[in-house]
Amino acid sequence: MARVHCVRIPCVHIDPATGLLRAVRQVLSPHFDARPKGSAPDLIVVHGISLPPGEFGGAWIDQLFTGGLDPGAHPYFRNIAEQRVSAHALIRRDGQIVQYVPFQARAWHAGESQYDGRPACNDFSIGIELEGTDDLAYEDAQYESLGTLVRALLAAYPSLASERVVGHSDIAPGRKTDPGGAFDWPRLRRLLA
Ligand SMILES: [Zn+2]
Repeated sequence: MARVHCVRIPCVHIDPATGLLRAVRQVLSPHFDARPKGSAPDLIVVHGISLPPGEFGGAWIDQLFTGGLDPGAHPYFRNIAEQRVSAHALIRRDGQIVQYVPFQARAWHAGESQYDGRPACNDFSIGIELEGTDDLAYEDAQYESLGTLVRALLAAYPSLASERVVGHSDIAPGRKTDPGGAFDWPRLRRLLA
């Protein structure tokens, strides 16, 4: 079991047998499948998401990632409700972590993407969503949870590395902008140092 030093949020433990976080809210998604044979996760992708855009705190992200988003609940949802997407985990504005997909499985978060010449980043990455927008500062509690979660992942999966943590915008430039200019990369690097 991977254990990491606790800061101000509860310890994050990853069960290596299941790829699930212990003592974390889980909303398991049907939107995942197996990684290609022999593929271990070696990249962490940080995303930003809010539903509807710019609004926080609703149940909509859980619903989108589990295929239960009501297309009639908001005009924006009409175009996205049918998308079969997910991430491994979400960090809400208050720092709460929600897990949707076991880490060893392939979540569907990156879309058409490429890193270091390698396409299809879902095959070899772990996707972590931060509830937020490109332009609004992410919360202190989110950085703390993200730092703790990434450190737990680095301990649990030796194929990962702290210098291989990137943004969605890095692997899908021109198509995706999240987590946006609001995300403080030096701050995350300090948390991982
Ligand atoms: Zn994204």
